Amino acid sequence: MRPSKSPHPCRGGGRRCLARSAHTPGLKAQHFAMSAPPLWRRTVSEILILGSGTSEGVPRVSCLTASPPSCQTCLAAAQPDSKSRRRNTSIVVRKSVPGNPDERPRNVLFDCGKFFYEAAMTWFPKHSIRELDAVVLTHPHADHVLGMDDLRDFTLNVSDNPKPLPVFLDAPTMARVKQIFPYMVDREKAQSAVPNCAFIGIAQGAELAAPFEVAQGVLRITPLRVQHGRHMTALGFRFGDVSHIPDVSSVPDETLELMGGTRLLIVDALNPMGSNPTHFCLDDAVQLAERIRPERVVLVDATHRWPAHEDANDMLRERFSALDWTFELAHDGQRIDCAIYSI
Ligand SMILES: [Zn+2]
Ligand SMILES: [Zn+2]
Ligand SMILES: [Zn+2]
Repeated sequence: MRPSKSPHPCRGGGRRCLARSAHTPGLKAQHFAMSAPPLWRRTVSEILILGSGTSEGVPRVSCLTASPPSCQTCLAAAQPDSKSRRRNTSIVVRKSVPGNPDERPRNVLFDCGKFFYEAAMTWFPKHSIRELDAVVLTHPHADHVLGMDDLRDFTLNVSDNPKPLPVFLDAPTMARVKQIFPYMVDREKAQSAVPNCAFIGIAQGAELAAPFEVAQGVLRITPLRVQHGRHMTALGFRFGDVSHIPDVSSVPDETLELMGGTRLLIVDALNPMGSNPTHFCLDDAVQLAERIRPERVVLVDATHRWPAHEDANDMLRERFSALDWTFELAHDGQRIDCAIYSI
């Protein structure tokens, strides 16, 4: 066995491993000869589902340690590459720069929960996502903000010219982020390298439903204020003819108006049966769809009470086969090509 060499000086942080090329003559040419054209060199308008599950994720550990284990969904989810495996609900919207398709697409992350690191590690390499251009938060629950500490990799190591990563959030979410991550908001409190974020307030005061632009205007977003339980509101977001509402218990009329013309609806459906005080379940998602009549409904925030992924989607196809629109349960890593939707 060959003795291991000392760690490479760039330790994976350098953009093109320039240090290695500089230290080892001859490697530079090889480096570039081996590099394939970037996968993003095409027009991109797509949504990547980073996570499709609720806060605890699927599988539940307690289902796997039960004796004997009886939860078929969690048993299925524990299998390698299972589509029943669900991390916290989060999406990345990827969009080419209008008028300049040769520039890399812009990547906008919606929510950054407890499982963000694992989701990014699993899906970003597969989908050639390296940079994040903006983060947009719906509300301050743990499954939507607790991964923010791991944004440091994206603000420190992916660009030769690092600048603050814009994070768009409302006032209650800002207050909570400040409590959880004081060193991200006041960087003088930091004792070591921390994520370099710039926090930008949205959906407050008279500007409640004012659209805002992210990634230098590549994506224009309208906040959708919804109830998330009796005592709390959260945000969903509309971009183009897509509405994304991950956590919701009821949608006020003024928000419904903002959703008119939605063709793709990504929405909370905690369980396939019954109701819940803080979340939509399937029947609630159906009622919302009946009011706004999208073409396609993609359900997220699923618990282990849903059947295993393929069985769940068979059930949805059978139940809604007579409708003009489709219902499907999302899965982690799902790519929704938005060529027919405007985002
Ligand atoms: Zn289970
Ligand atoms: Zn929530
Ligand atoms: Zn949630």
